Amino acid sequence: MWIISMTPVRDSSGESETVGWMLWGQQLTRTFPSLYQDLLMAQSQLLTDPNAMSGVHEAFGVDDNPHSIFRSNQELVHYASIRDMTGSEVAILKTWEPRLYYQKGEHVFYYLIISMLVVTSFISMVVFWLFRDKVGKRFISFEQNIQDLLGGMPQHSDNKQDEFERITQLVESLALSSNQAQDQLKATLQKFEALYHGQSVGMILLSDRVIADVNPATLELLGYQREELIGKTLDAICGTSNAECAVDQFFVMLANGQNKFDTFMQRSDLSEIACSVEATLLQDSDTSSVMLAVQDISEQKQQAELIQTLTQYDPISGLLNRPTLIESVRGLFRNQSDGHEFSIMYFNATRLKEIDEVYGHELYDACVRHIADSLKRYFSREEVGRISESEFVVCCTGPIGRVERMGNHILAAYRAKISLADMELDLGLKGALLPSSIDFENFENIAHCGYYTVMNRNPSVANQLTVVTPEQFERTQEAQILNRDIVAALKNREIIAHYQPIVKAASGQLVGFEALARWKHPQFGMVSPAVFVPLAEQRKLIVELGEQILDQACEFLQTFQQAQAHNKQMVSIHVNISSPHFYHSSLVDTLRKVIEQYQLAAGQLVLELTESILMGVEEETLQRMDAIKALGVQLALDDFGTGYSSFSSLCNFPLDIVKLDKSYIDGLDTNEKAKSLIRNIISMSQELGLTTVAEGVENASQLRKLNVWNVDEIQGYYFYKPMDAALALETFQRG
Ligand code: C2E
Ligand code: CA
Ligand code: CA
Repeated sequence: MWIISMTPVRDSSGESETVGWMLWGQQLTRTFPSLYQDLLMAQSQLLTDPNAMSGVHEAFGVDDNPHSIFRSNQELVHYASIRDMTGSEVAILKTWEPRLYYQKGEHVFYYLIISMLVVTSFISMVVFWLFRDKVGKRFISFEQNIQDLLGGMPQHSDNKQDEFERITQLVESLALSSNQAQDQLKATLQKFEALYHGQSVGMILLSDRVIADVNPATLELLGYQREELIGKTLDAICGTSNAECAVDQFFVMLANGQNKFDTFMQRSDLSEIACSVEATLLQDSDTSSVMLAVQDISEQKQQAELIQTLTQYDPISGLLNRPTLIESVRGLFRNQSDGHEFSIMYFNATRLKEIDEVYGHELYDACVRHIADSLKRYFSREEVGRISESEFVVCCTGPIGRVERMGNHILAAYRAKISLADMELDLGLKGALLPSSIDFENFENIAHCGYYTVMNRNPSVANQLTVVTPEQFERTQEAQILNRDIVAALKNREIIAHYQPIVKAASGQLVGFEALARWKHPQFGMVSPAVFVPLAEQRKLIVELGEQILDQACEFLQTFQQAQAHNKQMVSIHVNISSPHFYHSSLVDTLRKVIEQYQLAAGQLVLELTESILMGVEEETLQRMDAIKALGVQLALDDFGTGYSSFSSLCNFPLDIVKLDKSYIDGLDTNEKAKSLIRNIISMSQELGLTTVAEGVENASQLRKLNVWNVDEIQGYYFYKPMDAALALETFQRG
């Protein structure tokens, strides 16, 4: 047990509060601080360690203020300096008190802040949702609706504008467009009024399936009074020949989305009229109303029929025209695979063109109709067409024998002249039948084969139907190819002259050559002039061909003469001239040119003319002949005796040479008539001072006879066949 005393320490005035306490007692320092330490309450501590004390001084500056109080968030700390009697510090009393209320207050503060935040965000979200739902969405849909209302109207949307500005702009545009819409509506109404009261389109308003109203045009169209139609169903004005108009049918069609159709409507006089009807459902009405727009299309229909007639039929004959017939033939080809037998009959009225030129178009048309009527009569169940001015084709079905008989009947009917417009006319109808066994690829082949067959038919049987064989067909196809190629052949000089020597009958000595055209065709080899000369004539290429051969022949003769310079005998060259070439304006100039160019002497060039040339206008023919002869060219009459010419031709024309046709020479051995004819021709020709040439002499017996009758010259295989220029030169080089 020890006693300590405590005395408060005051300043000298005694007015201020105690600045400290003085503890005093016995042997105080001996017990200090350990005993004091035990006396202290919890949360108090005596710091006696000099390090700890100086640390406190450094941190809190206790030195200057021995009663310093330091606050942190957790506690309040009070440092009090304890000094001894000398005033030096012996310890520091640290007392601390946790700041319980302060801490609690801080927590409450945080709780408050958090609760406020939660409440505020909750309220904001509620406000946002409410705004969005009640205002925003409506706003957007409002903007959308206005935009929809404006439709495709251009607006200058600016992304920078806010919704209000955009909507303001939209509303302005809406106001503008609504004004325009009103104007348009007014205009549309006016148009509708005009249409409704106009005369062009009939309008029928159906309400609950009965006629509620009709416009004047409908009444005009159908010939009714208004009262007669109001309240009736559509059946009242439906034509009998069509189902579309029957009321139920009509509404079924409408329900299926078909609102346009052509139909017949019945007029008040029970006649029917073709109409096109367009139906429009009127949606605004409570009842089901339909507006029908009715238009008279009878004229259009007639025109369509007329167009069909014009496009499918030949206007003169009334038969199918070429394109339609080609389609029919295609149909036959298709059916052929089903085993249907068919054949194609081809007719050509070969003198129609002449009739047109001589008698004019009217008679020509009548002739065409005459043939068309006959064909339709005979082939009433077949497709009959006219494919060119003079060509007719029938697509025949059934057995070929029967078809052939019918064809021959028709040809027989035209064998004699027909009477038309007080005239007797020969139409020159010829026909060919192409059975389906022939492998014709297309219609062109058929037409060409028919043409070629009838045109090259032996004249004695020309009035009979030719049933074309596959071989004949092949030949005609060849001719078609040649026909195609001949232009290029002439251009490329593929047609060349061969030369057949002509010799003195008595001695066999060479007196001349005949130039004969040859075509070396890449596909068919050597083609005969009998084939391509007629082609060249048809294609109007014969003058060109004639000029090329003339040039080659004259050149050949010059070469030949130069090679035979030792031989004083003059040799001639015969060139065949066709009728168009003979009458061609350029002939005389051409002749003059080649004679000069190849230095031919007078009489060396001989032109062989056919008898048909002499059938022209005599005066003109004579003029031409004189002009040609003036150039020193001789004239020969080729194939004498085969045509129409008579002995008088020999007297009337300034001819130099007569060529007896091979057909007479062939008859020499067997035919007495031919013999006497030749004898007479030779003697008469000699009397007229003409040189006679016998063509186609093939054997010694013919030659002997001809020599007895003093024929002058011979051309025939017995002596020489035609040969090319090189061989001719070589043959006579050797002598
Ligand atoms: P053409 O003027 O009567 O010619 C004679 C024809 O008889 C030639 O036939 C000739 O090769 C042939 N021939 C000559 N001797 C004999 C013989 O002993 N026996 C047989 N079987 N035939 C013989 P080619 O060359 O076929 O000419 C046929 C026709 O073609 C010619 O008949 C002529 O009318 C015409 N032709 C030929 N070349 C030309 C030409 O350049 N221009 C014109 N316009 N027609 C030509
Ligand atoms: Ca000849
Ligand atoms: Ca001849």
